[in-house]
Amino acid sequence: MAGNRTFTMIKPDAVRAGHIGAILEKINAAGFKIVAMKMEQLSPQKAGDFYAVHRERPFYQELVEFMSSGPIVAVVLEKDNAVEDFRKLIGATNPAEAAPGTIRALFAKSIGENAVHGADSDENAAREIAFHFSQLEQFSY
Ligand code: UDP
Ligand code: MG
Repeated sequence: MAGNRTFTMIKPDAVRAGHIGAILEKINAAGFKIVAMKMEQLSPQKAGDFYAVHRERPFYQELVEFMSSGPIVAVVLEKDNAVEDFRKLIGATNPAEAAPGTIRALFAKSIGENAVHGADSDENAAREIAFHFSQLEQFSY
């Protein structure tokens, strides 16, 4: 299993803008299989725990407020080399620096409100998947 799953969230800005369908379409077109998915609104506590690694960064409070400001869509994706390929598909954190055609270039508003999350390592993907989904909520098909 190691190496073939990653975790993403469609963030509140992209949900509010009506981009859920378009983003999932890009994800499917790039060869990722959706094996778990749910829409939920994160509490400030849960958003803070999810991004705990950034606790000391200057943007942390703003990030927690933004990520708990409206519903997100949490998704587990399967593909060979999932983590690295998905980071390529979403592009740089700052949409101004994201390669043309990437999800952030197409849909992100700013470095903070940047449309999607993508796990940055296999280890973090596994942690983030377990944070959002039970085993029964993850499928093989
Ligand atoms: N972020 C921000 N300002 C910054 C850097 C990051 O608001 O200067 C937010 C942004 O939403 C980003 C998230 O914090 O997606 C996590 O930051 P990270 O550096 O992990 O970027 P990512 O892995 O999402 O590309
Ligand atoms: Mg990150």
